[in-house]
Amino acid sequence: MHLEHDPAMRDAPRGAPDPTSELRMADATAHRRAVADQLAARFGERWYEVPTGPDVRSADREAATLAALTEGRDFIWGAMLPRDPLAGRRGSMDLLIRTAGGYVPVLIVRHKVTDPGTGARTSPLDELTDVGGTPDKGRKVRPQPRDQMRLAHTRRQLQAAGFADERTAFAGVIGLDGDAVIWHDLEAPTWPGGRTALAEYDTRFADRIAVATAAATGEPALAEPSRIVECRSCPWWPVCEAELLATRDVSLVVRGEDAGMLRAAGVTSVDALAQIDPHDTDVPLVGMPVADAVGLARAWLADLTVVRRSEVIDVPRADVEVDVDMESFGDAGAYMWGVLLSGADIGVPRGYRAFVSWDPLPTEDEARSFAEFWAWLTEVRAAAAERGLSFRAYCYNELAENRWLLSSAKRFAAFPGVPRRREIISFIESDQWFDLFGSVREYFLCSHGKGLKTIAPVAGFKWRDPEAGGENSMRWYRDAVGLDGGEPELPQRKRLLEYNEDDVRATAALRAWMTSPAVHEIPYVGDI
Ligand code: SF4
Repeated sequence: MHLEHDPAMRDAPRGAPDPTSELRMADATAHRRAVADQLAARFGERWYEVPTGPDVRSADREAATLAALTEGRDFIWGAMLPRDPLAGRRGSMDLLIRTAGGYVPVLIVRHKVTDPGTGARTSPLDELTDVGGTPDKGRKVRPQPRDQMRLAHTRRQLQAAGFADERTAFAGVIGLDGDAVIWHDLEAPTWPGGRTALAEYDTRFADRIAVATAAATGEPALAEPSRIVECRSCPWWPVCEAELLATRDVSLVVRGEDAGMLRAAGVTSVDALAQIDPHDTDVPLVGMPVADAVGLARAWLADLTVVRRSEVIDVPRADVEVDVDMESFGDAGAYMWGVLLSGADIGVPRGYRAFVSWDPLPTEDEARSFAEFWAWLTEVRAAAAERGLSFRAYCYNELAENRWLLSSAKRFAAFPGVPRRREIISFIESDQWFDLFGSVREYFLCSHGKGLKTIAPVAGFKWRDPEAGGENSMRWYRDAVGLDGGEPELPQRKRLLEYNEDDVRATAALRAWMTSPAVHEIPYVGDI
């Protein structure tokens, strides 16, 4: 908010758009369109769409929305409410629904808005005008604060324009399932401290206006950078990083809430944090023990990517070992399972291989490649067991692999060779499946993050492709399968295979290093 309104920042360098967020936005747009098509077919003449597109100016969208509101259209899709220059509000809303008393907003999102349970107020899609709905016996609300803030924003815009239904403060969300509207009462005391969504919104909005006004008028800044998870995909990171580095800000090593807590305790810089005696402080941190925060600060000052938290490092090994890495494309599917077999000879060729589908996702061919991967893994495990050899498969950060193992078993349950979920769960829960990320977290403090691309080079590993990375792999995949309508680019397939191979070789190198004497060359945190 500050940077967007600071005139001095107009030409400041920005980071490139994050392809993962771009992909997520494209998926969300497709989801909204699918819901809109379904509703348009259902409501026919009563459905009105405000013209949108890159060539349509905001002012024209605002005028078309105002005309539709004035005419009293029943359902207005793609609304852009008239600007409210006095309050500083502008913005769009997926759907406005006319009631007997005015209009209520409905948001279409591509995330879950309910959980199993009871109590959510819902309406089926063909009864969209049943604002407020009825208590649902199968769902409870997932609060999704951001959705509620967007609805509150539109509610205030509708009020300013004189079109809000003042008899009710309900506003709706259609979520990922796309089968019902979930209604939030924006005037119910559902927020911490018994506040309502509208009261929370009003406070936040006033705060934002104050920040923007100070920035625009050159008053002392009311906001300053502090590193949070979102910085990773924020275009302003080059600007904020430079400022944080200049002040050696404490959030460079301890981000988010913990940085705020340290600042409140007077610890504003990495230098100050490094000087704390962890055994003699009452600074409360939520993200990590104080001793780790101090260790990270000391590692950062000593320019060490990694320091040991522990004198002893214990990573279990096996006679037969497999490193596994999966490649997915957003939520569309997992198109590649790469494996590296090493250790004792069990009659299965050792080395790298990949189980892959080059049909553009989503595709049923993914079931074929997943079944082949699972058959291979089962064969290796059985061959090791027959020979009385121990077996272990390794990955780096199991969340992604586990997600796609489980979801592939579910999505492709009817396909030959696809294992049952129970089989997958028993593998995941067994000690044959080992997440090296957990070991890195347990044994090291990493001052530049714990990603494989950061940590494996400390173990001496190098990727062949200097541009190797999850975000670039998304672009390569698009080209490799011709997702944007062009001819598939075979060199990009080779590039993806090499990238995947290097990832599994990186986990192999990491565990070999962690179980070698060389790991003790990494400084111990107690010694720095
Ligand atoms: S880079 Fe981080 S601190 Fe800077 S504006 Fe973006 S989210 Fe905020």
